[in-house]
Amino acid sequence: MKTKGTSGSAPGKHRGSGRSEGNRGNSNSKGKKEVPAWMAGLPVQIGQQYEAEIIGISHDGEGVGRVNGFTLFVAGALPGERALVRVEHLKKQYGYAGLVELLAVSPDRVSPDCVIYDECGGCQLQHLSYEAQLRVKRQQVVDNLVRIGKLAVAGEPTNGRTGENGDEEQGQGIVVHPTLGMTDPWRYRNKAQVPFGEERGGLIGGFYAQGSHRIIDMEACLIQHEANDEVVARVKEIGSRLGIRAYSEETGSGLLRHVVVKVGFRTGEVMVVLVTNGVVIPRVEEWVAGIREALPAVKSICHNINVRQTNVIFGDETRVLWGSEVIYDYIGEVKFAISARSFFQVNPVQTEVLYGKALEYAALTGGETVVDAYCGIGTISLFLAQRAGQVYGVEIVEEAISDARKNAELNGMTNVHFEAGPAEVVLPEWTRQGVRPDVIVVDPPRKGCDPALLATILELRPRRVVYVSCSASTLARDLRVLVDGGYGVAEVTPVDMFPWTVHVESVVLLESKV
Ligand code: SAH
Repeated sequence: MKTKGTSGSAPGKHRGSGRSEGNRGNSNSKGKKEVPAWMAGLPVQIGQQYEAEIIGISHDGEGVGRVNGFTLFVAGALPGERALVRVEHLKKQYGYAGLVELLAVSPDRVSPDCVIYDECGGCQLQHLSYEAQLRVKRQQVVDNLVRIGKLAVAGEPTNGRTGENGDEEQGQGIVVHPTLGMTDPWRYRNKAQVPFGEERGGLIGGFYAQGSHRIIDMEACLIQHEANDEVVARVKEIGSRLGIRAYSEETGSGLLRHVVVKVGFRTGEVMVVLVTNGVVIPRVEEWVAGIREALPAVKSICHNINVRQTNVIFGDETRVLWGSEVIYDYIGEVKFAISARSFFQVNPVQTEVLYGKALEYAALTGGETVVDAYCGIGTISLFLAQRAGQVYGVEIVEEAISDARKNAELNGMTNVHFEAGPAEVVLPEWTRQGVRPDVIVVDPPRKGCDPALLATILELRPRRVVYVSCSASTLARDLRVLVDGGYGVAEVTPVDMFPWTVHVESVVLLESKV
């Protein structure tokens, strides 16, 4: 695929962990500063260099290194590599080290395609080949199931990992399938939120340098749809021509804070949102004319006002400057309206893969009652409603529920019922009203399911539970509860929703054993 990184240098994400600050006084200080006794007793010392064997990859994408039995996280190093590292920061059980030199290079190492990869915090795995990423993501799910969930996982021939954990459980345990990846893992995002600033009198727009709020100008983000780059480039030109000032976080002055771009992959429709620190955009007619002329795909130009000193992007008020209030896109056959503020999955291609798997696991035949807990704007609910008798969706954010209802209407679906509230409260209410789900789908935020919701699931005992998860650790914790309550984990499929980043989603099928 790409050219391999060469040894003798430290390619990709090697700028250190940024965690060295706290111990700076201790390093190389030749006894001037006291090294605490616990630190002096560790097998590695701050400021010293060591040869590390990299044996894994952390959930942040750092290499997990071993030196004299001690664990050091090494940004930029990959499993299977050997590296010279310099210790930057120590805790009692582990530490962080910078990559000085690679001594043995992984065959999975590639040189990142993106020119700003080292500076930007957006992607963490561009130095790892895509196939290897998919393997690593699957392994993270497996490791969490084993370590946190204490669940037996079947040995996987596709995985090929041997060693510590071994694969003794061949033929037994939970089947974790290979990660479902993208055929083309670039340009997959449909939403960009680009901070704007000024440099030498002109507008710049790009990203915050890793771990800071310094804006770095950017021409292209390779995981964004091309339209996003195009819109941002034109807005910079138009804004500079019209003499608009960018907002400064330091002084609180200036107008343009962010430009948010949304793209309907299937429809080609584009929305541009100018987020400003003030109610009035000077020469607003010229803005609208400029954007319309340069970007014919734009169907909606909105203005969001955010005068607060905060790093939350949107303020409360959104106005339509020109065109439609929403753009549309599809997931499968289901149509969705996307407004400036509404949540929509950012990788529409893989969302279809993820929900397709959820639908397959739900095994609907047409008459079932289904609950979709944590339903957001109803994406999964509507997807399932195509094959179910009745779907009940619950979500804590009122605005999302109002979007969900509109989306049901947009698709002429009458067999869905949405309610705003905590899932752990609403599900028992539905139960009291006589709702008896055959299938419950959960898609909780990173913190996982509320224990009360899991208890209700165990009481209701639907035949199938489909768990869609964005955090393998809380997934493993919750699966343990469901397994102890009499469910069996039938299979797990990791899905790569965010190529080149460390995030991994999975879909799990649980079946009641009683
Ligand atoms: N299934 C949706 C969204 C999943 S994200 C989709 O695929 O688009 C998780 C959602 O859970 C968020 O929308 C969040 O607002 C919601 N949420 C968080 N805590 C909740 C709770 N206690 N009860 C119901 N919904 C909750």
